[in-house]
Amino acid sequence: MAMAVIIDGKKISQQIKDELKEKTAALRAKGKTGALAVIQVGEDPASSVYVRNKKNACAYIGIESLAYELPEETKEAELLKLIEELNQKTEVKGILVQLPLPAHICEDKIIQAIDPKKDVDGFHPQSVGAMTIGEKGFLSCTPAGIIQLLKRSGIEITGKHCVVIGRSNIVGKPMALLMLRENATVTITHSKTKDLPKICKQADILIVAMGKPQYIGAEYIKEGAVVIDVGIHRDENNKLCGDVKFEEASSIASAITPVPGGVGPMTIAMLMNNCVQSIEEG
Ligand code: NAD
Repeated sequence: MAMAVIIDGKKISQQIKDELKEKTAALRAKGKTGALAVIQVGEDPASSVYVRNKKNACAYIGIESLAYELPEETKEAELLKLIEELNQKTEVKGILVQLPLPAHICEDKIIQAIDPKKDVDGFHPQSVGAMTIGEKGFLSCTPAGIIQLLKRSGIEITGKHCVVIGRSNIVGKPMALLMLRENATVTITHSKTKDLPKICKQADILIVAMGKPQYIGAEYIKEGAVVIDVGIHRDENNKLCGDVKFEEASSIASAITPVPGGVGPMTIAMLMNNCVQSIEEG
């Protein structure tokens, strides 16, 4: 049996970052610059890794990043005040608040405080609404990254049946909407869905964002399907793995994303894309 083509997210994200680096230099030559403000509250180690990667990506493509590392006990009102200040600063073109926030801070309230023109994560209700009706606005980074992975791998989306597992606001829902926008026929599944294997087996493109380590195996995958694995977990040996049983899935799928090196690097590349877009428009 033929093995699936491995969709190389590391390579594709590098291409995108190199394109953005050139674009940033061209914008700078025209006097267009700007900074990304990155706010972290507390010291969650996973968040610290993400924040560091985002700052490194900014340095690579030539965008200034401003780091705000606030203590765990920061009050909601203080964070809102900082966001308001950053909304007013013209040189700040993007504002990113690393999630999750400590339990005493309401994430929705914080997201809604960000000026939609600087909402480079694409989480503000205005950005989500714009995406839903196909208006201009920042796209949610992980789903936008997956669209790029598919397009740049030459995978046709129009007319294909796409099944998305998961309906979270940051992955599942925007993913389904973007696939719809690309003319796929979309099915959204979730924890209350009945007969998940049967539905998934109908997918030409299966996008898995359920947050369950190595859950999806052969019984969910149609011969020749494209499998996109959004999950990120540590297995018992502390190695990274996804929601999909990679070896098993690879022998059935025509193309598959690995973890690590699949969707993960694309998320940051698309964040950078949104920052450059913001600099260009500002
Ligand atoms: P979440 O927990 O918010 O959502 C999980 C979704 O899966 C829910 O909508 C739920 O209904 C569904 N689900 C759970 N169990 C199910 C089951 N048994 N059958 C069918 N559906 C089920 O998670 P999330 O924020 O959407 O993230 C999903 C995964 O993707 C996590 O592992 C997360 O770490 C990872 N993630 C990766 C990136 C990246 O850049 N690669 C970005 C965001 C999230």
